[in-house]
Amino acid sequence: MALVELRNVSKIYRLGEEVIRALDDISLDIEQGEFISIIGPSGSGKSTLMHILGCLDSPTQGTINLDGVMIQAASPRQLAAIRNRKIGFVFQFFNLLSKLNVLQNVELPMIYSGIPGKERRQRAMAALEAVSLANRAKHRPSQLSGGQQQRAAIARALVNSPRIVFADEPTGNLDSHTGEAILQLFRELSADGRTMVLVTHDPEIAAVTPRRIEIRDGKVAAKADSTLAGLDRPPRPTTAPAVQAAAQSVGSGC
Ligand code: ADP
Ligand code: MG
Repeated sequence: MALVELRNVSKIYRLGEEVIRALDDISLDIEQGEFISIIGPSGSGKSTLMHILGCLDSPTQGTINLDGVMIQAASPRQLAAIRNRKIGFVFQFFNLLSKLNVLQNVELPMIYSGIPGKERRQRAMAALEAVSLANRAKHRPSQLSGGQQQRAAIARALVNSPRIVFADEPTGNLDSHTGEAILQLFRELSADGRTMVLVTHDPEIAAVTPRRIEIRDGKVAAKADSTLAGLDRPPRPTTAPAVQAAAQSVGSGC
């Protein structure tokens, strides 16, 4: 069984007369330990999909099984508990609380899960060490660079040892050099066996993940990887489809 199983999921918004199918009959699996990207243009439904995968929102139709739990039947209170225990989030604008220092920000998810103060501080420091930010623990977010703030947000996402981490345009507010360092950190976390999903509109960022899911108009586009030509698949055939099909049928006769 996959870590996440989405079946025939739709999300429909009604604004007056207008019906918006933000997600339209999506089915997909995410296996334990996978590093994947969800890619598509602005408005294609990426964030809506991430919110549903991450139990921040419920589908209009369809089912979601996360780590053996059928999510679409869960109450808001159960969803909050599942999020806190099983899911880490990283956002484009970091979403750190400005009045708390870095260590306190990283401790927050553990306060919600009722972990005692001493253990909270130890685990928060370990998470900050893992993202090379232990020397900024007592700083306020406003005293950090963008890249450092994102590292703090990643530490916060990891501190409850989630089953899966979602990052929505995590480099979207960073310069390219800093963004590359953050992507490198995601690669390292993936190499440690974490299950991670990167949401992006940028094919260059999606290229860092072994598997990509392309979203178009709320649907999973067929053959997503072939649109990112040359990454890890053979180049597209230049022969016309009918000619190619004929060639294949000849070949399969051997
Ligand atoms: P992306 O993250 O790929 O830019 P979104 O998931 O944010 O796309 O949005 C997908 C579509 O759903 C867009 O057409 C957007 O306008 C619409 N949408 C998203 N959230 C809402 C909402 N709360 N109410 C109405 N329409 C929404
Ligand atoms: Mg979005």
